[in-house]
Amino acid sequence: MNKFAGVSARVLIILLLGLALPASAQDVEHKLSAATDGQRPADANTETQQFAGPIKLFDNLYYIGTSFVSAYLLVTSDGLIMIDALYEGYTAEALDAIRDLGFDPADIRYLLVTHGHQDHAGGIDEVRNVSGAKVAMSAADWTLAGLMPELTYTDGDALALGDTKIHFFVTPGHTKGVLSMQFTVRDGTTNHQAFLFGGHNVTSNNTEDFAALISSVQKLQGSLSNIEVNLTSHPWAALIFQRAELLSARKPGEPHPFVDGADFTAFLAERLESSRQSLAKLGSSQ
Ligand SMILES: [Zn+2]
Repeated sequence: MNKFAGVSARVLIILLLGLALPASAQDVEHKLSAATDGQRPADANTETQQFAGPIKLFDNLYYIGTSFVSAYLLVTSDGLIMIDALYEGYTAEALDAIRDLGFDPADIRYLLVTHGHQDHAGGIDEVRNVSGAKVAMSAADWTLAGLMPELTYTDGDALALGDTKIHFFVTPGHTKGVLSMQFTVRDGTTNHQAFLFGGHNVTSNNTEDFAALISSVQKLQGSLSNIEVNLTSHPWAALIFQRAELLSARKPGEPHPFVDGADFTAFLAERLESSRQSLAKLGSSQ
């Protein structure tokens, strides 16, 4: 079989976009905002990877990730929760961003890692060293990352810290143990349910991975309700920067641009449909 026969259309599109895209941050911004008119944007160009935080999303949630990889800071009444560790120099930039916000990284009580890939898990030791945080991942992804498990969460588990509770879902596909999370975000006196899909795409050509992602999405569609805020482990998929731009121009009394339940529903439906198409394509090429 031709080595490239199994490459999905999506991967080809990403490669073509990568070739066509100029390498400035503004151009990525432009592409992302242009893309909101129609389809959800494809992967941003990794060549423009740069730290992109901190951005206040809600009263208790900040974006502290890069232009390509998400990381979040969740503020509770009993300390901080960091979600994803980033990697290489970006971890130090995230820790600096936490200081810039007026918090102390030493107050990070938990580091929750969506999955074991380097761009999300690479900075685990750095965060742990500065904070003493307990680090959590799924069992499968502790193994994937080649690390000694500390805290392991599985489907249905929850973590309570102060006024905050995080509900965990294991949603395989992107890796075998993607950890997704539901928690409450606060906008003034209004609470909203947010969901962070820890890995929403398949980057291999393995039919089992696509089948796993399809099952994961179906499980979420069957079990989640009232989700109004879509967060993802890569920012473009949740339109983080476009919404943040709208948020910065929001006037008192206007709706919060991140509160968009219809988008979350559409996001899951799109994930299901495109995974089914990829699976069908792979099946017919083998
Ligand atoms: Zn990954």
